[in-house]
Amino acid sequence: MLAALVAPLLAAAPAEAVDAIGSKVLTTREVIGTSVEGRPIVAVHRTRKPAAVPDGTEPAAAETRRVLVLGSVHGDEQAGLRVFQRLRDRDHLPAGLDLWLVRTVNPDGTAAHRRTNAHGVDLNRNFPYKWRSSPRGATWSGQQPLSEPESVVLRDLVRRQKPDLTITFHQPLFGVGANDKAMPTVRALARGMRLPVDEFHCTGVCNGTFTGWVNHRTDGLAVTVEFGRRVPTWRVSRAAATVVTVGSQLTL
Ligand SMILES: [Zn+2]
Repeated sequence: MLAALVAPLLAAAPAEAVDAIGSKVLTTREVIGTSVEGRPIVAVHRTRKPAAVPDGTEPAAAETRRVLVLGSVHGDEQAGLRVFQRLRDRDHLPAGLDLWLVRTVNPDGTAAHRRTNAHGVDLNRNFPYKWRSSPRGATWSGQQPLSEPESVVLRDLVRRQKPDLTITFHQPLFGVGANDKAMPTVRALARGMRLPVDEFHCTGVCNGTFTGWVNHRTDGLAVTVEFGRRVPTWRVSRAAATVVTVGSQLTL
């Protein structure tokens, strides 16, 4: 079953779309791992090829900002999947933006509309930064840090691609997570997405979160975006547009 699922994705040829000013957006898909139940975890890579300069010389390479977007980590929070879809399908990307899109890192939970992965682990408590053992339940942190294949896949993607900015979508706390590492970026995302800047309280310290791990164990910046329970279409559109705008204007 696994081979049947993976093969068509691996075989997919890069797709090209030509935007309004004649630059091509290259889109490639890569299976970066599999879930507990064998579902593929897929990364979509999108970047713009610079338009050819009329005199035939090569255009100067723009400085690249690499942005990773996770549509969901918790399978019962699915509004971010719509943001993923917008970013995957949009025709235009600014020069110098290297976009990595993962629809969900938790395809088993998404298929079941369940927060956890198929082992019952909250993947957003399973990372090796301030990880703490916790009782089984909706926020079970697992047997040990990175005990889950989905967490390892995500850790490996971040280590390999070294995104400058990682954005993860959640629900329903309604706000963009405050972050000591880069408040100007947090504020820009919050402003663009029409969300407040917020401190999320995970009943005390947030243990073992993916965002905490990225911010404290890698050079990149990670931001958590929490939509509300019901997410209107305009907010999905605005969130996708803001990812592109803020991502392409990041100060490196
Ligand atoms: Zn969540």
